[in-house]
Amino acid sequence: MNRVYNFSAGPSMLPLSVLEKAASELVCYGESGMSVMEMSHRSPDYEAIIADAEAMLRKLMEIPDNYKVLFLQGGASTQFAAVPLNLIKRTGKADYVVSGQFSGKAFKEAQKLGYDVKCIATSKEDNFTYVPVVTKDMIRPDAAYLHICFNNTIYGTKYPYIPETGEIPLVADLSSCIISEPIDVSKFGVIYAGAQKNMAPAGMTLVIVREDLLDYAEEKMPTMLEWKTMAENGSMYNTPPCYTIYMAKLVYEWILELGGLKVMQQMNQKKAALLYDYLDSQDYYKAPVQKESRSMMNVTFVTGDADLDKKFASEASKAGLKNLKGHRSVGGMRASIYNAMPYEGVEALVAFMKEFAKNNPKN
Ligand SMILES: *Cc1c(COP(=O)(O)O)cnc(C)c1O
Repeated sequence: MNRVYNFSAGPSMLPLSVLEKAASELVCYGESGMSVMEMSHRSPDYEAIIADAEAMLRKLMEIPDNYKVLFLQGGASTQFAAVPLNLIKRTGKADYVVSGQFSGKAFKEAQKLGYDVKCIATSKEDNFTYVPVVTKDMIRPDAAYLHICFNNTIYGTKYPYIPETGEIPLVADLSSCIISEPIDVSKFGVIYAGAQKNMAPAGMTLVIVREDLLDYAEEKMPTMLEWKTMAENGSMYNTPPCYTIYMAKLVYEWILELGGLKVMQQMNQKKAALLYDYLDSQDYYKAPVQKESRSMMNVTFVTGDADLDKKFASEASKAGLKNLKGHRSVGGMRASIYNAMPYEGVEALVAFMKEFAKNNPKN
């Protein structure tokens, strides 16, 4: 069977060469005589895998030495609780920007824990079709941190800039744009991301945290949520998500071999431009997101007719273009074009869109 172009928002496509490499060592890893899945996480072979994964990610993202890299479990959603539990004690309050569903969930989770949290900006009233402007004077001067979601997976928006927060640590959910382009890690206090969008299969959550922010955990902190404990134990306080970390390592290696994040960015820009340029050149499909907030990873569009949208997703699927149906809260279509989506996949999508528009005229 042929592989399809999978536009899923996550779990999503992995590079073919990575899958093939993993397959080639699935049963026997190196000289170990066993699969990575069967290995003790304390074995020398596995110690090397997790150390390489971290070293490669540090190189790829140019992570400064005063940041810890953690490979955790629980998904990005667990960090919605872990962030306030690890940081709020710094001052007792925190600010949030609600630019979509995930940042809304992060905000609600902190509220649920009973903390003094404030939503300082939202684009909810416009169905999250843009990212709100955030300036330093909007943030409470004694906020323990400002939380943002950098790329809004469901709506297809992204911050066109990194908000300036001065001394206040910026905490960002980068689940759907991590390692898609170079980013200045030093502008952030904490970066976190689920693996299954752009790094690996599901099961691992990356946390990159500045060392001076490890000292504010709540007294009654669940140990598994405490970044400091995880940092002191090299992400191995308990059994880490071993196989997913191994897969992430292969993905980091793949990007390094391509030439790093600058090259990745150029490839991603080229793919996104192909799709957005087409969307801007016609009026059969509409891209609801404001231009300056457009995501390079998740591209949303609609025909304006719910039945046509449905037909589009179903016919595209038959043509080998999978998972183009938009999120249930937005409708329409969404093409997630992460690192592993080849340029040819976007070309095939645009060709299909043209054909579909021709064959399905609107009255
Ligand atoms: C997918 C996603 C999440 C949720 O991730 P889980 O790993 O399923 O908890 C959170 N934030 C963003 C931006 C996402 O894209």
